[in-house]
Amino acid sequence: MSVSADSIRRTGTHSPETPPWIAMYHSVGDCSDDPYRITVSPHRLDRQLGWLRRRGLRGVSMTDLLAAHARGAAHGLVGLTFDDGYADFVETALPLLRRHDCGATLFVLPGRLGGDNAWDPLGPRKPLLDKQGIRLAAASEGIEVGSHGLTHVDLTRADDALLHAEVAESRAVLSELTGAPVDGFCYPYGTVDGRVVDAVRAAGYGYACAIDPGPLTGRHALPRLHIGENDNAVRLLLKYRLHRLRRRPVAGLR
Ligand SMILES: [Zn+2]
Repeated sequence: MSVSADSIRRTGTHSPETPPWIAMYHSVGDCSDDPYRITVSPHRLDRQLGWLRRRGLRGVSMTDLLAAHARGAAHGLVGLTFDDGYADFVETALPLLRRHDCGATLFVLPGRLGGDNAWDPLGPRKPLLDKQGIRLAAASEGIEVGSHGLTHVDLTRADDALLHAEVAESRAVLSELTGAPVDGFCYPYGTVDGRVVDAVRAAGYGYACAIDPGPLTGRHALPRLHIGENDNAVRLLLKYRLHRLRRRPVAGLR
């Protein structure tokens, strides 16, 4: 399938009515045993980033994307997000992002520093970044570090104390760890309701990423697209175009 940069730009992300196109990744590595479909191979990520760049698009962090929206200058920009803070982000994803001159947002779990994805019972254990790794990511040009909560719990099932800890404490801990304010939050499992959105907003986050937030869609519940190992050029193009048709408008981005 051949598509010109112009035809994609015409369906770009600059209109305030258009929800930003935000890709959701998790781990980058060996995806031979991947029951939750959270892994893309380095080769596939390389191809996907190359696909974006060839079409005049560039992946950026969420803060850069939202700042560009606010200026009316988000034309050709897409958000790239990596959930959970896997150690392979620094080892594998970061060099590929560099190669394609892309930025990204990494959502980490400051309650599981140097731990693993214990919340996923099936599949391989995947190591998470420790303090040093998170600092290294945060210090990289174009890379933003946001919070994914403390320990990866379904916040819609959390009582008030746990919700507060996961949302507000994770922000404080992460800010201390990176030495910078933390503007972004990402809902574990993508599960979200009005109470959880209110807690995230009250904790001072400037935006939050969900997956399919439906009527909650807004700056604190941004929809994202799962991008996986099977997403070749044709599927990426479909996801890029269908996004505009399926998603609700996001108000208040500019
Ligand atoms: Zn997660």
